[in-house]
Amino acid sequence: MKFQIAIDGPSGAGKSTVAKALAARLGIVYVDTGALYRTVGYYVRTQGADPHSAREVEALLPHIRLELRYENGAQQVYLNGEPMGDRIRTPEMSMYASAVSAIPAVRAFLLETQRAIAREHSVVMDGRDIGTVILPDADVKIYLTASDECRARRRYEELRAKGMEVDYESVLSDMRERDRNDSSRAVAPAVAAKDAIVFDNSGMQPEECVSGLMTVISKLIRV
Ligand code: C5P
Repeated sequence: MKFQIAIDGPSGAGKSTVAKALAARLGIVYVDTGALYRTVGYYVRTQGADPHSAREVEALLPHIRLELRYENGAQQVYLNGEPMGDRIRTPEMSMYASAVSAIPAVRAFLLETQRAIAREHSVVMDGRDIGTVILPDADVKIYLTASDECRARRRYEELRAKGMEVDYESVLSDMRERDRNDSSRAVAPAVAAKDAIVFDNSGMQPEECVSGLMTVISKLIRV
């Protein structure tokens, strides 16, 4: 039997780390939906278009072919046949992703890619609107969150570990701006689904959060 676990929440809440670990424990597919918005943002950037202009971005969508492949257990997004790797992980691409994600045509464009994977496989899918829009009937919906400072600290350390020159204050202010954009947009705002379990992992190590969530999940589905 297939099942779906939706994990939503703001940036830096540790969604991808936790979702990846849960998928590995459960032996199911992990889907990072933010990577799809980042890839659209990346393409818009390479074309020199304005990521806030619905007209400019919409005109580019027919030229985008996205594929998700799983290589050594990790998700890789291919844009027109080319693997994206870490290019989509920069702070600039976070902002491009956030801007294009507010455009309804972009959300519509990515909807079917996300649903198609969940039809084929049991998934742990992370994003902003998985429990509200993409998989409204998911078996488990979790809204993962943590304090702003805690989330910014994690994001900062993650970027530094990848060798990026960033400072904590700008990571915090970028993150707050992105949270504002994501939660106030007209389409699919990033909010907890009414039936989501809100889980605050401020101050928790990933392992503690994963075990807490495994307990929640095992009460809701037979795993
Ligand atoms: O999760 P990640 O930080 O990679 O997402 C990048 C951006 O993509 C988010 O700030 C958000 O604007 C957008 N996004 C979204 N819906 C999703 C996943 C990501 O709008 N399901």
